[in-house]
Amino acid sequence: MKIADALRALEAREARLLLARASGFSEASVLAHPERELPADVEAAFRAFAARRARGEPVAYILGEKEFYGLPLAVTPAALIPRPETELLVELALGEPFDSALDLGTGTGAIALALKRQRPEARVVAVERSAAALALAQRNAQKLGLDVEFRHGLWFGPVAGERFDLVVSNPPYVREGDPHLEEGDVRFEPRAALVAGQDGLDAVREIVRDAPGHLNPGGRILLEHGLGQDGAVRSLLVEAGIEGVATWPDLAGIARVSGGRLKS
Ligand code: GLN
Repeated sequence: MKIADALRALEAREARLLLARASGFSEASVLAHPERELPADVEAAFRAFAARRARGEPVAYILGEKEFYGLPLAVTPAALIPRPETELLVELALGEPFDSALDLGTGTGAIALALKRQRPEARVVAVERSAAALALAQRNAQKLGLDVEFRHGLWFGPVAGERFDLVVSNPPYVREGDPHLEEGDVRFEPRAALVAGQDGLDAVREIVRDAPGHLNPGGRILLEHGLGQDGAVRSLLVEAGIEGVATWPDLAGIARVSGGRLKS
């Protein structure tokens, strides 16, 4: 097999990533030498990757890595693959002053680790219910040398009596039975990280209900949500006594993050 043939076997960027991993060469060097014949062991490794990809397995799980907010994160099927739209949540959070931040349902640790990297002086706590995901997040923190405090449990459960300047979460928000769950990467991701009840808002309701008891006066809450959920999420926030409630669109123009602040 020639490099050129391998590159034609999958969507270009994916083929490049998988071929670079199989060969140990950079993506650039793979692209620069399409006429080069692949050594047998590299071809075997690439064919194995391509077969997994052809079955639908996400590239991030095959590589075991995904970049988020400039951080290379280890990923496994124990946690949701970090998405570019979640970088909006991080950007909005970084537009706020905070000495302490809490990330609920941290998964790979993506949001908490990005916040800690950008605000090393802040105390960042990350909560995760899945023990396997929590271990993954801790491994990411260690590898990146980022001192995030990890807690095992559901939403605010492990931070009883504690208050924060900032609460952020990318909770599960997909509706049960949503046909989107049978397509693409999500088929391989943990259901518990994706699905939240009939309307997809079960997790958001629990988080918003308890948020005022865990925010400092003037503290901010920012939540990611799905297409068409922004009105419902804003109503929940307002009902909980959150002020200055607003929604922000992602790069695709989809209302993606809503939030506000506790009165000072
Ligand atoms: N954005 C994801 C999807 O629909 C869902 C992520 C989530 O539920 N937090 O593919």
